Amino acid sequence: MKMTVNRIRVVVLGSPRSGKSAVVVRYLTKRYIGEYSSTGDFLYTHRVAFDGAVSEVEILDTSNCAIRGCLGEHVRWGDAFAVVYSVCERRSFLAAAELLSLLAQARLPGCAAVTLLGNKRDLEHAREVHAEEGQELSLRFGCQFYEVSAAESCAGAALAFHALLREARALALLLPAPRRKLAAYSVSKVIGTIFGKNSKSVRKKRPSLSI
Ligand code: GDP
Ligand code: MG
Repeated sequence: MKMTVNRIRVVVLGSPRSGKSAVVVRYLTKRYIGEYSSTGDFLYTHRVAFDGAVSEVEILDTSNCAIRGCLGEHVRWGDAFAVVYSVCERRSFLAAAELLSLLAQARLPGCAAVTLLGNKRDLEHAREVHAEEGQELSLRFGCQFYEVSAAESCAGAALAFHALLREARALALLLPAPRRKLAAYSVSKVIGTIFGKNSKSVRKKRPSLSI
């Protein structure tokens, strides 16, 4: 059978130290390293085959984009979004709610695949956010939701990313790209004006790795 290839761009957003890099690296390499560089965005590309077709997947592991002013650009760039918080840090959960709200304003409903990931579920003794709260937030924004532990296992991150990619591919088949991108364009201008203007130079400096 001849395989078709489509491209899916995933943006990973969330508070600093919520475990974005740990979750991405766990998904891509099945390993947990513990400490990751947090000096800038990191772009990974890899190919995934599922449901009889191949997708070229680009994953952008972001860092401090609210401060660096590149959130608008990321929202415009992505087809799919993983919003990560730490179940041990309520502040990161509130930031995740804000990011989901921004995405909902910036993308027409149903035009982007979104998943909410509550990371660090291994740290039960330090938990500040109940699983039900994550569930409720995801229901409010109509997105997927998983609690995962990048430190403890590969399974959660793999499940969450596969479900996100499946939804992104389904949307790509349903909606032509211009419509998806147009939906992101106008409101991301608004985000750009809120968060800053130096996004072009940030994109040029982004390191990348193919796996
Ligand atoms: P980022 O800034 O969101 O990319 O967060 P990092 O991936 O750099 O992780 C921040 C810190 O949390 C690091 O010290 C990680 O080792 C730790 N961390 C990440 N995921 C987990 C997890 O699932 N459980 C535990 N216990 N620690 C984690
Ligand atoms: Mg990081």
